[in-house]
Amino acid sequence: MTTESRQATIRFPYKRSLGPVMGAFMTALTEQRILGIRSGERVLCPPREWDPVTAADLAVDDLTEVGPAGTVESWTWVAEPTPAHPFDRPFAFALIRLDGADTALLHVVDAGSPDSMSTGMRVAPRWRATRVGHISDIEAFVPGESPVGGGGEPATEPVTMMEYDASITYTVPVTPNEARDAEAVAQGRFLGLRCPVCSRVYLGGRGYCPVDAVALGPEHELDLPQRGTITNFTIVTPVQYPGQTETEPFARVHVLLDDVDVVLGYQPLIEVPMDQVRIGMRVAAMWDSSSGAGSQLEGWIPTGEPDVVDPDLVNRIC
Ligand SMILES: [Zn+2]
Repeated sequence: MTTESRQATIRFPYKRSLGPVMGAFMTALTEQRILGIRSGERVLCPPREWDPVTAADLAVDDLTEVGPAGTVESWTWVAEPTPAHPFDRPFAFALIRLDGADTALLHVVDAGSPDSMSTGMRVAPRWRATRVGHISDIEAFVPGESPVGGGGEPATEPVTMMEYDASITYTVPVTPNEARDAEAVAQGRFLGLRCPVCSRVYLGGRGYCPVDAVALGPEHELDLPQRGTITNFTIVTPVQYPGQTETEPFARVHVLLDDVDVVLGYQPLIEVPMDQVRIGMRVAAMWDSSSGAGSQLEGWIPTGEPDVVDPDLVNRIC
C-alpha cells in the first residue's frame, strides 16, 4: 500500500522595530557602509545595544565603521540549498570578522565551490544595487579585498522597521482514513468514526480512539447529521496583520450535531448579523460546490427552528 502525503507551509510574517543601534546599522547598509559599536577596547559587529559579555549599555555615539573586507573565522558549506536560503546554488554560511571588529558577523560567502573556501580567507561584500536597510543589502561576501556591486541610492529616511518572514514547510502522510474523510467532504458529507468500545465519534479520519487505543477503520464509519445547535461562539474582530483577508467582524461557532455526541468547533456562521448570534440557535451545514473540485463546507446557516433552551449547552465546546 502506498501512503499519500501532502505538504503544508506555515508562514509567520513579523514586523519589528529596530531600535537606535540596529536602525543605524541598517540605515548605513543602504549607504554601503557597515557599522560596528565600540565597547571598551573592543568593537562589536554586528552592533548591539548591550555588550553581551559585560552587559554595558552601548549607545549610538559608540558606532564606528568597520570593514568592508574581513576574514572568515569559520564556515559551513550548504550543498543543497532550500527555498529558505539566500541562494538557489551551493554557498557557504560563514562567521566573518570584519577589519576593525573584534566579533564576527554571520553572513554568506558566494564562492562557487567548497574548494574555494578556507578559514582565514579574505572576503569583501557584494552590495545589491537596490538597498532597503536589511542585512541582505549585502547580497553575499565574495573572495577578495574589494567590495563589488552596489550603486543605486541610499535610503532617504532612517530605517526603523524590519519585516521578516519565518516559515516552515512540512510533509505529512495522508492515512487511508483521512483520504476517505476528504472524499466524503468533497461529496458534502461529514464522515464519523465510532469507537466500538466507548461509542465516542471522531471526525477528520482519525485512526484510533485515544481513550481505548482501538484502531478505527471503514467498518466504524457513519454519516453524521448536517444539523445541530450552537453551544458557544466567538465574535472575531479582525486585526489587519499580513495575510489577513477579513475586514469585518465575523463569528465562529461550536455546533453540537443532532443525534450524535459530536461538537464541531470554530465553524463559520453565515447570514447572521453579529448581534443575533446566540447559544441555542439551530443551524444547518451549507456546502459550496461552485469550484467544480468537489464540495467545501462554506459554513452554517440558521434553520429557522425555535432555539434549544438548555443551560448545559454552553459547556459543550468539545
Ligand atoms: Zn473509545
